[in-house]
Amino acid sequence: MKFGGTSVQDAEAFARVAEIVAGEMENSPVVVTSAMSKVTDALLFAFETAKKGDVESAIESLEPHFQRHTIVSVELTDEAQQKAFQTELYFAKNELKDLLTRVSRRSLPLSMLKDAVVSYGEQLSSRLLTFVCQAKHLNARHADSRRLIVTDDEYGSAAPIWDETERFIQLELQSSINKGEIPVMGGFIAASRSGETTTLGRGGSDYSAALVGAALKAREIQIWTDVTGVLTCDPRICPEARTLKTLSYEEAAELAYFGAKVLHPKTIQPAVDLQIPVRVCNSHQPAEKGTMILPSSQTTTRLVKSIAYKKGITILHITSARMLGAFGFMSAIFQIFERHRTVIDVVTTSEVSVSLTLDNTDSLEAVVKDLQRIAAVEIERDQAVICVVGSGLRDTSGVAAKIFTAISDFNISLISHGASSVNMTFVVEENAVKEVIKKLHDEFFNQKN
Ligand code: ADP
Ligand code: ASP
Ligand code: MG
Repeated sequence: MKFGGTSVQDAEAFARVAEIVAGEMENSPVVVTSAMSKVTDALLFAFETAKKGDVESAIESLEPHFQRHTIVSVELTDEAQQKAFQTELYFAKNELKDLLTRVSRRSLPLSMLKDAVVSYGEQLSSRLLTFVCQAKHLNARHADSRRLIVTDDEYGSAAPIWDETERFIQLELQSSINKGEIPVMGGFIAASRSGETTTLGRGGSDYSAALVGAALKAREIQIWTDVTGVLTCDPRICPEARTLKTLSYEEAAELAYFGAKVLHPKTIQPAVDLQIPVRVCNSHQPAEKGTMILPSSQTTTRLVKSIAYKKGITILHITSARMLGAFGFMSAIFQIFERHRTVIDVVTTSEVSVSLTLDNTDSLEAVVKDLQRIAAVEIERDQAVICVVGSGLRDTSGVAAKIFTAISDFNISLISHGASSVNMTFVVEENAVKEVIKKLHDEFFNQKN
């Protein structure tokens, strides 16, 4: 059972979580929690402030968030538990002070310090949730995720080393479960083989939950969030979006990758490997059913299931006459991206050009410089990828026509019908996203389709 930031945003939310966990007692739950909402952002802000040399302000900026934790413990736990949590908080503050001072002096690599700083969100929320569950007479026991999830040392988006992670989770958590305990751990955080704190990337608590679920061969992985399941599109864009009853792994993976924030893109993989169902539900409305994500055979094939989008995209158009009939050109291009550790999302090609989209442009300048040695490069910024997902896209003719007719007023580029064939992906200008999505949503969900 994974609870996101808004599911542990205040005392009321913590109390609801404890109740939801209590309701699953006979199913031997394991609880994975995110940091309280806004805490990860606050820790990143403190890191940036310390980087500029202002350690005092960095620490001060965190104080209101420490207080939010204290309020929860005062409202929901007894005196002894409050005292124990205050001790945890005291140590955390001192460690953070020390880390932020190191940031300002750059006495260790900054990427390493950043993960260490940001990990305190989940370190604190998981300890607090353990106390809250204990106060509700649940046999909760805190487990330090840094002893359970082993990763490489790619700070900021570390990759788990599966065999070791599986072994540690089984050793520690299975024996805890066998004793009738409910393990409570922080999502998102892990440690490298040498014991340094690492993180799995923003939104990574979902991924932690899936890793734990897979290692324990769980019957179900539950993602508890602030909306009722996976919807036909982001409800923040389309308030009329509807909850999907079921979704296939394949569809969920495409949606998550192309921006449906409700699931971390990597969440689905450990579940797919072991065919574990993933349930997405609303911690604010626990009685509502939510969405089940299942192997495809068990889902219905509605034409289009959902529409996702990702903003802040940059397109590169790479053109070279040399490409005509030449081999090795594509490989030369992709090697450049590999060298600069830059991930490509959507790719389309013609005989003399390759167009592709980038989400992360940290190394854009260096990438373009290298590309210009072999081709002409044109850059288009402020773009957005839109992804229409549904197994029905696989073999239904006319869907593409329907999509593009609905949005014929907009300029569309880089159209791609992904290899999995469950998605139709294309790029529009960022400022058109809202309108494009609304039109598509109207076309596929508000009419008799
Ligand atoms: P958590 O803190 O629980 O991990 P997130 O903010 O990461 O929650 O994800 C939940 C949010 O994802 C929702 O509030 C919603 O705005 C957004 N979202 C985007 N696309 C979708 C979608 N297709 N279905 C449901 N939620 C979506
Ligand atoms: N707290 C982390 C974040 O805000 C991880 C998560 O919430 O999943 O990105
Ligand atoms: Mg999330």
